[in-house]
Amino acid sequence: MRYMKTEKVVVIGGGPAGLAASIYLARAYLNPLVVAGSPSGGQLTLTSDVENYPGFESILGPDLILSFKNHAMKFKTKLLEKNVIKLNVEKTPFSIYTSSGEVIKTESILLATGASAQWLNIPSETRLRGKGVSACATCDGFFFRDKTVAVVGGGDTAMEEALTLTKFANKVYILHRKDSFRASAIMQRRVLENKKITILWNTTIKEVLGEKNVEGLKIIQNGKEKDLKVEGLFLAIGHKPSTDFLSESGVLLDEKGYIKTALQARWEQKNENKFGSEFQYMTNIKGVFAAGDCVDYTYRQAATAVGMGVSAALEIEKYLSEK
Ligand code: NDP
Repeated sequence: MRYMKTEKVVVIGGGPAGLAASIYLARAYLNPLVVAGSPSGGQLTLTSDVENYPGFESILGPDLILSFKNHAMKFKTKLLEKNVIKLNVEKTPFSIYTSSGEVIKTESILLATGASAQWLNIPSETRLRGKGVSACATCDGFFFRDKTVAVVGGGDTAMEEALTLTKFANKVYILHRKDSFRASAIMQRRVLENKKITILWNTTIKEVLGEKNVEGLKIIQNGKEKDLKVEGLFLAIGHKPSTDFLSESGVLLDEKGYIKTALQARWEQKNENKFGSEFQYMTNIKGVFAAGDCVDYTYRQAATAVGMGVSAALEIEKYLSEK
């Protein structure tokens, strides 16, 4: 199917960055189309309590994203719950191809596709995914009531996952490959004070044991191999930007796949703007902007993604009016 009308702006991604941008774009009468992904909503849909989004002392991640969505819809944002598989940005109008065969033409694009969880990628882990191996304690913790589980990682996500799991499991191990965490001090303290959590430092996973379900882990701790009996394994080892569909588009990515914008180019070039753009959120392709976790590997918060989305929307509004 081909969309006959050329859109002024299409936002790719229906997480905090994309939806915040669409509120601003809609209120500027640009009638944005958000291709929100399937399922839509991004990482917030996999989170439980969010306690650091301003204005909400505590709100569930899925409820927060629903309120973003309702807010965007109130201002007549169009929402398409499809995945984008390819872009053609060689000339305007740009073409956006979805997994179900639509071709959408547009004068400008905001890339806000976010990021997703990383896996260890050992065969036994892949085989037992969904059978005791998970990357979301909020989604799957319930299945481990009164059981013993392990979390891998040493960042804030690992701390958060472990704490969430203590609501269900009897015992939670955190397996970390170093002898100190990189997580924030407050999260570390909550973990260290929780009697259900045991930390195994200098520990890596060699294999996930079990045929149909996770029955244990073969770990290497301080160079020694041993078995650890657990019934669940939760991965919390970082994220990968959702930018594979851009690999042949000409949009510049860094070595980890994050999208480069003029702002980063400027930092890297010691304040020289390599992209030659007055727009901080514009990529190397004129008219293609990017915001949120697909750009930002440092802060990765809902609030920072919203800020970037709004800034990008304001720039798109200016770009289109100048055009
Ligand atoms: P991080 O990149 O911060 O941490 C990833 C962790 O996984 C590190 O400890 C890393 O080890 C470990 N790791 C990476 N690869 C492997 C591997 N192959 N095998 C074993 N361990 C591995 O990611 P997070 O998802 O934790 O956090 C991302 C960002 O989001 C951070 O800025 C964080 O502060 C933020 N965040 C904030 C929250 C909050 O404020 N409520 C909640 C969750 C995240 P090593 O340390 O050795 O590199």
